[in-house]
Amino acid sequence: MEGTIKEHIKFFKEELGEHVDLVAVSKTKPNEDLMEAYEAGQRIFGENKVQEMTGKWESLPKDIKWHMVGHVQTNKVKYMAPYVDLIHAVQKMKLLKEINKRAKENDRVINCLLQVKIAEEDSKFGMSPDELRAFLKDPKLAELKNVKLKGLMGMATFTDDEDQVHREFQVLEDLYEETSKTYPDFSILSMGMSGDYKIAMQHGTTMVRIGSSIFGERG
Ligand SMILES: *Cc1c(COP(=O)(O)O)cnc(C)c1O
Repeated sequence: MEGTIKEHIKFFKEELGEHVDLVAVSKTKPNEDLMEAYEAGQRIFGENKVQEMTGKWESLPKDIKWHMVGHVQTNKVKYMAPYVDLIHAVQKMKLLKEINKRAKENDRVINCLLQVKIAEEDSKFGMSPDELRAFLKDPKLAELKNVKLKGLMGMATFTDDEDQVHREFQVLEDLYEETSKTYPDFSILSMGMSGDYKIAMQHGTTMVRIGSSIFGERG
């Protein structure tokens, strides 16, 4: 891939404009790479393994916002509860309850997104649109004072078929618009990665998660 990490960060800042936040997905990458992005002004980093993220949090500057973008096991929540800024992929009440419990122990409120399954292929994680609607009506939610639901996250099918990606992002855009009416705290729609962020931008994304186009392919 052409260019340095610093150049890629500058490119995305311009490309995305003021209204779309950039999560630099740094999973598997060494601290030097994250620092190069940091020095170019990047402050939000995304990881998909709690242990790796915690190691990076311990050794890197404290003004970095750490986003967990991957699937989270309930027994790992406690390790990131002291510092995590946003958990992107919540899909079960059991996980949300655990996040609430650990947030409370740390005297914090942890921001979360609900992951919706939009990929037409069925290998991806997430709630169906109907499961999401039911989840948001669950009376147990009101008891969870130490988590804040900030919006939705989704991943499109990994395919060259752009029409399919448009269709899948359209489903999430519509759901976000629908649920935002009832949930005024909603302000984040996390969709779009290196291969499909341009399509996501046509569907109202507010936060893209870019890894390989910033840091290069993962080994
Ligand atoms: C790895 C990952 C990304 C970044 O993917 P790229 O294609 O490298 O941009 C985005 N979101 C999630 C959930 C990921 O696991």
